[in-house]
Amino acid sequence: MTRQKQQHGVVHIVGAGPGDPGLITVRGLECLRACDAVVYDHLAQPSLLDAVPASAERIYVGKQAGRHTLRQPEINRLLVRLARAGKRVVRLKGGDPFIFGRGGEEAEALAAAGVAYEVVPGVTAALGASAYAGMPLTHRDFASSVTFVTGHEDPTQNESDIPWEMLGRGGGTLVFYMGVGRLDALCGQLLLHGRAGTTPAAVVEWATLPRQRTVTGTLATIAQRAKKAGIHPPALLIVGAIVPLRKKLAWFEKRPLFGRRIVVTRSRTQASELRERLERLGAEVIEFPTIRLVPPRSERRLRDAARHLNRYDWLIFTSANAVERFCAIVLEENGGDIRAFGRARIAAIGPATRQAVERFRLAVALQPARYVAEEVVAALAKTEILDGLRVLIPRAEVAREVLPERLRKAGARVDVIPVYRTVPDKPVNAREIVKELLAGKIDTITFTSSSTVENFVRAVGRKNFARFAGKTKIASIGPVTSKTLRDYGACPAIEARDYTIEGLVRAIKAQR
Ligand code: SAH
Repeated sequence: MTRQKQQHGVVHIVGAGPGDPGLITVRGLECLRACDAVVYDHLAQPSLLDAVPASAERIYVGKQAGRHTLRQPEINRLLVRLARAGKRVVRLKGGDPFIFGRGGEEAEALAAAGVAYEVVPGVTAALGASAYAGMPLTHRDFASSVTFVTGHEDPTQNESDIPWEMLGRGGGTLVFYMGVGRLDALCGQLLLHGRAGTTPAAVVEWATLPRQRTVTGTLATIAQRAKKAGIHPPALLIVGAIVPLRKKLAWFEKRPLFGRRIVVTRSRTQASELRERLERLGAEVIEFPTIRLVPPRSERRLRDAARHLNRYDWLIFTSANAVERFCAIVLEENGGDIRAFGRARIAAIGPATRQAVERFRLAVALQPARYVAEEVVAALAKTEILDGLRVLIPRAEVAREVLPERLRKAGARVDVIPVYRTVPDKPVNAREIVKELLAGKIDTITFTSSSTVENFVRAVGRKNFARFAGKTKIASIGPVTSKTLRDYGACPAIEARDYTIEGLVRAIKAQR
């Protein structure tokens, strides 16, 4: 009798951290990258799911205050079932799995079922809020202990599990989870059990995310102030003498674009650089991809050129996308051998394109001082005799003709080969974003090319576009894009001085 090899399933109970996707652990990310199924709930940062392989199953079990999509026993059974089917399962949980997350119960269920499991800790919300709102939970001068308390229980209940006596008398820092709906009652209990009304207190909402808000006061005032500010879950109540330190230490909220909400309209693949730069400065970035890159209609010429790069003296790249697609195909067609690039020299039209080339460990021999086609021709003419020069330009299916035309006029033999094509796209939440734009809830919207303008106008409709053009600042990457914006009746309030992502970000930062 032959025995089938049995694949053993395992569940990794992983802490996702409090919100900022950068706060997951290295081990947690490794688990996500290698899983066959991920079971996640509401607080986990959605962009973390980008790390999960496309083939993996994604199961939302939605834990939102009061609204459970699956009950806990069902979640436990689901985990057991997936693992028994031989899958590597990640149970992704907000913050740390063992702090008010019922991760303990899930681990118990797995242990009882004899399913293999591991626990990967995460940054719990209290630590995230402490760091990002500038309140060290302990401090030699102010607090020598810290207590995490659930605010979920009704504190007026007689048989409360919370040791109010101790919390009231001690001088340490207190952090209440799940308590924003009961701030009055929680503060009342602390006052009743001996804490002074002047004890500093803070509420931190959406800690570690660009939308983080912090409200401060005292035990006597914080409930009122939080209510007035419209604080909602998820939020923490932090009580103790360390709260005022945030006047000096609130680094996160002091970054130049903190509190600004910015819409980015590039294609999904291109948005990341702009997004990262804006987020690093503290902005909340909302992506509105309007185009998507897809393979060209025919790849025959592309693949043929990729196999015969020795036919060319120069390769000219006019976008990072072209570099990525083209270089990947060259390697694919030549068994991954980098020597396929041979002796052809490489020109890149701007710094982002150059970086893309360099990521493939290839050297850029020429980059014009300004990022326009005409300058490439002029720069090339300085080092080469253009007559008879063999040039390959891998690029978008539809693009400006200036570069190949000028080169041909000078006698060069130019092959223009499409490596990708753009098609219109629209985010799933397009309607919500348009609503926010119309309500004036977005500070700035960015455009990085004429085609992003055209595609965006097509996605939202001309009328809408004209309506919110006055309500939000429009940021343009340069004069060509600005002209297109004006053609649609929108006047850019911000225009980059050098026509790069970096320049655009600098211009947004300068505009207050
Ligand atoms: N296991 C989680 C806590 C789950 S209980 C952890 O370790 O952080 C859910 C509560 O956590 C929320 O009601 C809120 O009080 C707190 N919380 C989670 N994320 C938060 C965030 N980004 N900002 C403020 N509070 C948060």
